[in-house]
Order: sequence, then structure tokens, then C-alpha cells
Amino acid sequence: MKAISSSLHLATFLIVALALAACTHLEDDTTGKSDICEVHHVRMTKRPLSFRHGMIPMSKVEGEKGWWKHRMDHYPHPGDCIPATNIVLPGQESRALSFVCPVCQQAHARALSSGLAPAP
Ligand SMILES: [Zn+2]
Repeated sequence: MKAISSSLHLATFLIVALALAACTHLEDDTTGKSDICEVHHVRMTKRPLSFRHGMIPMSKVEGEKGWWKHRMDHYPHPGDCIPATNIVLPGQESRALSFVCPVCQQAHARALSSGLAPAP
């Protein structure tokens, strides 16, 4: 009887542990991508970031001007968020692992303080 009780406790523990693991699972937005910043040529680190929908312009014309072009040309990995379109795809509901470049972070901070980048 004691062996059955211990087995039930173990099974309950495993079910709770698996449920908690499922709740904290993060999608990995870095899979198959280089960990070297294409602008600054330095190694980036992985961090969990939130998606910000509506940041990516929905047309090529919009994407080639303004603050979006400035961001992509000068600090594409600042670590403030993961830019996304208005369309929410599976896995883009909350957070994911993404690359963050330390030089992009500094450039983004300068752009924010000078008014080149919109405040979050
Ligand atoms: Zn960078």
C-alpha cells in the first residue's frame, strides 16, 4: 500500500512539473540565425523579449523610410522587443528568445534620447 501511495505522489509531482514547464516554455526566435550582429559584427546574447505588433511596416515603401529604416540600418537588435506586423502568428502571442546586440542597445538609447526613435 505504501508503494502505491509513493507512486501516486511521484506521478502527481511529475504532472505538476510538466505543467509548469509547459507554462514557461519560450519560443526560440534565434533558431537558424547568426549570433553576430550584421551591423556591428559583434556577438549577441539571447534574451527573452516581448513581441510588439504593428512595428514592421506593411508596405515596402513604408519600410524604406523614417524611423523603421533608421532602426534597421543602425540598431536592428536593441533588445527592446521583437518587432512584428499587425498579424499575430502562432508563437508570437507573448515572448520569445531573441538576439540582443550591446552596440545596438547603445545606438537605440541614443536614438531615443535624440528623438530619432519613437518612445516605447
Ligand atoms: Zn548591433
